[in-house]
Amino acid sequence: MSAAPHTDTRTILAGAAEPGHGELRPVEGIYAPPGLHWVGDGFRVAGYFSAIPNAVRKLDPFLLLDYHPPYDYAPSNRPRGVGVHPHRGFETVTLAWEGSVEHHDSAGGGGVIGPGDVQWMTAASGILHKEHHETTFSRRGGTFQMAQLWVNLPRAHKMDPPRYQALRADEMGVVTLDGGAGTARIVAGELAGIRGPAKTVSPINVFDLRLNAKGKTVLALPGKQNTGLLVMKGELSINGREEARTFDFVVFENVGERIEIEAMSDAHVLVLSGEPLREPIVQYGPFVMSTEREIAQAFADLESGKFGKLDD
Ligand code: MN
Repeated sequence: MSAAPHTDTRTILAGAAEPGHGELRPVEGIYAPPGLHWVGDGFRVAGYFSAIPNAVRKLDPFLLLDYHPPYDYAPSNRPRGVGVHPHRGFETVTLAWEGSVEHHDSAGGGGVIGPGDVQWMTAASGILHKEHHETTFSRRGGTFQMAQLWVNLPRAHKMDPPRYQALRADEMGVVTLDGGAGTARIVAGELAGIRGPAKTVSPINVFDLRLNAKGKTVLALPGKQNTGLLVMKGELSINGREEARTFDFVVFENVGERIEIEAMSDAHVLVLSGEPLREPIVQYGPFVMSTEREIAQAFADLESGKFGKLDD
């Protein structure tokens, strides 16, 4: 990880006193990946929430996690992806590990994200956008690995103006884990006093964690937050009791605060944690609102051009 001037780094201890010296947070469930499906012609993803019973309640404020495991694309002169479509009432967060993706929206937001970068798009009152493999990457072809997370907005902020945060790899908070256990990149929230760059509307933690084989760490994530983790690579022992394999998603119970993780092999893990909004959710495709009436309004506003304009 290159160290930009504003990148904080700190070493944390995996010892008993720090961090999160409270009770263990038990595992609620370990879920095998659902089958892969295509989003447009550019994103071959596993939609994890379909495999987890009551996921939207258990993982509130997270609404969706589409994980695109590493996949090799053949070169293409026409960038693969998803054409113009609307969103209202939530945020889309795209994390890139391999390959690169290009985005444009009707609010003037846009850009390219590559390995280590994150795009945090707050659709809020509504945008039109399109998402494609970046042109040069597309022509060359190659391995692509990404995730897209949907984060709900509190009802009071669903009609705020849209916002776009391009978070570069060198802006992330970096926590070096004790004993050569590995590294945590902090995208949002805080770990061991290191904050991530994302501005969030409600309290959210997003950590991109790499553990070396036999590496151990402890995460302090209080039970009042809904918490889960995706094993993108490797095998983990959790709390010394459960084992999670590559592509499993682990959901934690809402008690305790201390999560002990040991990597049985080199591991790459996405950690998600957030304070639940506990508000009604009415979702229709690309709109996530609080009532049926607000969904009908979203369609009416889309019809009448209130989401702006964006060319294909
Ligand atoms: Mn979209």
